[in-house]
Amino acid sequence: MTAIAPEMLTPSTSAFDSIPALTAADRCDATTTTIREGSGTANPRVACGAQAYVTALLPSGNTLLFCAHHGHNLEATLVQQGAVIRDDSAVLQQNTKPGASA
Ligand SMILES: [Zn+2]
Repeated sequence: MTAIAPEMLTPSTSAFDSIPALTAADRCDATTTTIREGSGTANPRVACGAQAYVTALLPSGNTLLFCAHHGHNLEATLVQQGAVIRDDSAVLQQNTKPGASA
């Protein structure tokens, strides 16, 4: 069934009205120059490149796209900086069969 109420697809923030939905062509903008996870050494210019599911609308009006992993890791930081987050990663759960919990 593909019948989904339009309000289910509409983010609560109207700022995203002009931003198209993410597609498989949208890729995570995170790089190791901007993401410093754990104690790993910096490795400049290495982009994540995974499919993007999280959109961050920055106060400047620019948008950054992140995969679910980086989006969730960076959400608090981005919000602190005034960004508004749209998380579309719920589609990942919809595509995952239940019963695989470890
Ligand atoms: Zn990523």
